[in-house]
Amino acid sequence: MNDNLNVEELFGSKVFTLGKMKERLPEKEFNEIRTLMDHGGELSLKTADVVAKAMKDWAIENGATHYTHWFQPLTGITAEKHDAFVTHPDAEGRMIMEFRGKELIKGEPDASSFPSGGLRATFEARGYTAWDVTSPAFLREDATGVILCIPTAFCSFKGEALDKKTPLLRSMEAISEQALRIVRLFGNTEATKVIPSVGAEQEYFLVDREKYLQREDLKLTGRTLFGAPAPKGQEMDDHYFGTIRERIGSFMKDINIELWKLGVTAKTQHNEVAPAQHELAPIYETANIAVDHNQLVMEIMKKVAERHGLACLLHEKPFAGMNGSGKHDNWSLSTDTGENLLNPGDTPNENIQFLLVLACILKAVDTHADLLRQSAADVGNDHRLGADEAPPAIISVFLGEQLEDVVKQLVETGAAVRSLQGEKLNTGVSTLPDFMKDATDRNRTSPFAFTGNKFEFRMVGSRDSIGSPNTVLNTIVAEAFCEAADILEKADNFDMAVHDLIKEYMTEHRRIIFSGNGYSPEWKEEAARRGLPNISCTVEAASALTTEKSVKLFEKFKIFTKAELESREEIEYELYTKAINIEARTMIDMVKRQIMPAVMDYTGMLADTIKTLESIKVDATVQNEILNNITACLKETNRALKALEEKVEAAKKMENGKEKAFYTRREIFFAMEDLRRPVDNLETMVDKEIWPMPTYGDLVFEV
Ligand code: ADP
Ligand code: MG
Repeated sequence: MNDNLNVEELFGSKVFTLGKMKERLPEKEFNEIRTLMDHGGELSLKTADVVAKAMKDWAIENGATHYTHWFQPLTGITAEKHDAFVTHPDAEGRMIMEFRGKELIKGEPDASSFPSGGLRATFEARGYTAWDVTSPAFLREDATGVILCIPTAFCSFKGEALDKKTPLLRSMEAISEQALRIVRLFGNTEATKVIPSVGAEQEYFLVDREKYLQREDLKLTGRTLFGAPAPKGQEMDDHYFGTIRERIGSFMKDINIELWKLGVTAKTQHNEVAPAQHELAPIYETANIAVDHNQLVMEIMKKVAERHGLACLLHEKPFAGMNGSGKHDNWSLSTDTGENLLNPGDTPNENIQFLLVLACILKAVDTHADLLRQSAADVGNDHRLGADEAPPAIISVFLGEQLEDVVKQLVETGAAVRSLQGEKLNTGVSTLPDFMKDATDRNRTSPFAFTGNKFEFRMVGSRDSIGSPNTVLNTIVAEAFCEAADILEKADNFDMAVHDLIKEYMTEHRRIIFSGNGYSPEWKEEAARRGLPNISCTVEAASALTTEKSVKLFEKFKIFTKAELESREEIEYELYTKAINIEARTMIDMVKRQIMPAVMDYTGMLADTIKTLESIKVDATVQNEILNNITACLKETNRALKALEEKVEAAKKMENGKEKAFYTRREIFFAMEDLRRPVDNLETMVDKEIWPMPTYGDLVFEV
């Protein structure tokens, strides 16, 4: 089948698309759903019944036996509970498969086992899932059969959000409302909403599944907790955009097919910087669908990898000393009439609406840098942000030469009279075409970069949902738009007022613009001088959620209540503590039951050799030296092991979630690094045949 791919036919074949609804629904119901998708509103139970039946018929024709509300609790992954379409057989024992509107629009999974951060006492188990009409239902096929998945939001009995989708949808409404006010000021009377678009570039590693299964750390925590560097790393830069190997190629081919069937526009694929690292990017789409699709991308990657005898590692830092993985969250805003508010045009200095939008974004990012940073924080990402490979932990904005020059003119002279233009790129070879360069080069080190007609938020972790980052982006920009519109709508002289406001915002928030090398130590110092926050880790980032500034912001736009924010901060601590403690316990287990026994076997062998050699009076100084070195390292390992064990025990006794998380970061995290060091040293001294697990070299160079 693969040899004759018909992508057009394949694409969306497992999705209950708008087209399929149009085919299968009576006109009245179709129109009702259409309006609901575009502008929200109530769905009558009668219509829901009609839609549910059509959806079920389509699903069953395609082999489905079950349906599930598919949602995104705060664990960061997706959750589902399957229900069969079966009902009571009729009098003659015949099975009528049924699916009612009620079941389509509302589900009631027991919520007590999902993180709620104290929002809900465990006895208040009720949680509801509600159909997100704007994200299409799809069929998933695996060993459990074919299942109709209905994207839903997940709330508590009292309506508090328990997931990543609810706040995202709220934030999309907020930014739409505020952005409309801005375009109206510039005479746009036609647009009825403004939609954030998102394209997420996903990085990942592929390793051999057999080898993966031999590593306790990879299986339980998603990353290697030990591992000495291989003799060769990424220094040759021979992997980035390198030719894709056969086995990986066949994985990529398969993943594209699976994703296309699900309506995900997988578009770009290439090898990444580190060996065994790759990237996949879909074409951008409406934010909430992009978030759902990114979850699907991650899920399908893991499944398809298994099929190919591979394991897909989505962790932000599977291997120490090699590049980690992230997710570039490309974000822009467009009206429903097709105008991208982030399109500067050829002469941005004359595009006043664009300059206002840009000024508002600069203001938003500068004012809420701590929130943006928090939205990208997770346990795994702590290893990346601020290390010299990923964006630094300091938020700054890269605009590129052309826009920076416009800002400079505005701030320094009060008027922007010119826009730098791209030049012709001369290849110097007569048979190659000369072409126009972009007006601006790229900057790979910037965490928040303008790339042509969108911003690219590059801090997000590879394993994390892009729900929170986009919720924050939408909301902070909505606030800036709102404040600008409040002023401009009242202005007597609009042209003057808008000019002054752009200049004011750009002057006040210019400190957030940075185009130099974000990895350099000088930038850290410079950022400190500018007063930009440098938040080093997840536990330190969490309190950004509940500052007065944050509560005011999120309550104003009805994204989160204070209680919801407090619960989310609590969950950050809880998830952090749990994850690190699992890592610590895995390390302890590996050291005690795999590494130390192996090392002791080896030292035993060495000791025997020495005895034998000495008994026949042969010089054994080399063997002695090695044995002594290993023994010293083993001793150090044992000491570090005990220290880690003590700290893990101490953490168990702590009650307060925040304290425990900080203790975990301050003590356990660093005790783990202390244990890792001597073990990695041992790995370089002990016979490879005896070492109890595949090494870095085995993992990344033998895929
Ligand atoms: P770049 O080369 O700047 O990384 P690409 O064209 O490779 O850009 O696109 C990267 C991602 O950004 C893709 O997912 C793409 O669909 C998405 N993207 C492109 N344009 C926009 C836009 N206007 N808004 C949001 N995402 C976009
Ligand atoms: Mg990119």
